Amino acid sequence: EHSISDISFKSWLLPLEPTSIEDDTLIVVFDPKDDQESDPDQMAINYITKKYAKFLAIMISEVCGFTKEVKLRFALPGEFSTPAINETFIPKSANYATSNLNAKYTFDTFVVGGNNKFARQASLAVAESPGEAYNPLYIYGGPGLGKTHLLHSIGNFIINENPDKKVLYVTSEQFLNEVIEGIRGSNSSNAITKTREKYRSVDILLIDDIQILIGKESTQQEFFNTFNTLYLAGKQIVITSDKPPKEMETLEERIRSRFESGLMADIGNPDYETRMAILRKKVESEKINLSDDILDYIAENIKSNIRELEGALNKLIAYSNLEKSEITMDIAMRELQNIIYPDKPREVTPQLIIEVVSEHYNIPMEKMLSKDRSKSVSRPRQIAMFLCNTMTDATLEGIGQLLNGRDHSTILHGRNVIEEEYNNDEEFRKQIDTIKKKINPN
Ligand code: ADP
Ligand code: MG
Repeated sequence: EHSISDISFKSWLLPLEPTSIEDDTLIVVFDPKDDQESDPDQMAINYITKKYAKFLAIMISEVCGFTKEVKLRFALPGEFSTPAINETFIPKSANYATSNLNAKYTFDTFVVGGNNKFARQASLAVAESPGEAYNPLYIYGGPGLGKTHLLHSIGNFIINENPDKKVLYVTSEQFLNEVIEGIRGSNSSNAITKTREKYRSVDILLIDDIQILIGKESTQQEFFNTFNTLYLAGKQIVITSDKPPKEMETLEERIRSRFESGLMADIGNPDYETRMAILRKKVESEKINLSDDILDYIAENIKSNIRELEGALNKLIAYSNLEKSEITMDIAMRELQNIIYPDKPREVTPQLIIEVVSEHYNIPMEKMLSKDRSKSVSRPRQIAMFLCNTMTDATLEGIGQLLNGRDHSTILHGRNVIEEEYNNDEEFRKQIDTIKKKINPN
């Protein structure tokens, strides 16, 4: 609903109803019930299929945590008989929909190793007896080590066992934004009350990356009040952070002692065996053929961040899907050189710049190259144009070619927009300089 215009949503998506599963295809019926004017017809079906099938398939897979894209078939009312929704396709309960949980992250998919054994055990204990085992549970560790994964695992476990439980996963950033919105929107005076109600009515609060809240005075306060309300009511709270409470300087003493009153569990760097086990598990689930040598090469070279470990593997998987060829050690080494030897001086090419910008803003390459003109995509794209133009000798035409055949005036325009801002806005300049450093550290 938020991704497309109101009218498009009402006309095309709202009348859709998932009704049944045929083999591996989800049947979705288009039935604009209370819309007398438009007779649902084949034209609408064709249009929806063309315009929204891909988008919906991606969304559904994401929400349900499928690793593969689901197949969709749109139909008219009556074309398929009685609704019989396969259980695997619907969330377990209404509470699931509001939980923000990602079904992909479960205890089943979490590989246990010496580094995370304790944290995983504590998480499982909490999931089995929320509010009773350890409260709060405080999980800390460096980036990419599985904190978020464990947090979702707890939530998924609880809601599977007990669909009536109200579980809420929230990033600290989201909490922060809601509190700020609540305060700002104080003319609609109950905005903050609404936010409070939302958080204080849950049974299990899973809050990720708490370090973000710390130091933000009023938000910290708001969180502490929420925390206390839930805690006193015996509700389970699980917190993650990149550091233990005692290392968070601006954390108020009373909040610190509350955090420390529960159980603290840290996750350290995975050892070689754990790294290999994680890679193997992933290779297995993706049904891809990669020799042990290659897995070993990755595991030997990426040691302290599982996200990067997976990232390396994903890069090879993407390569093999694209090129439809087997991955040899040579290919692996070449494909992974930017990940494994990030410090090695590289030649600054427009291609590299586009890649770095895409990574920096977390915009997939396809989007960078696509016609998508939403600001979140077009701006990074323009930044890439600016950087390509200023950091390399490439011509505007050449840059346009790389950006999916855009013409030189588009590139010039993009460059100019960014250049103007770069020269006049200090904050923005800093942001761009950070990207430049990523492209060329020297
Ligand atoms: P953090 O929140 O600590 O930064 P995440 O939980 O986001 O890290 O983990 C990063 C990636 O690594 C995720 O895709 C996650 O599924 C994966 N991951 C982390 N730890 C494990 C593990 N023990 N087993 C399997 N996958 C893991
Ligand atoms: Mg995380």
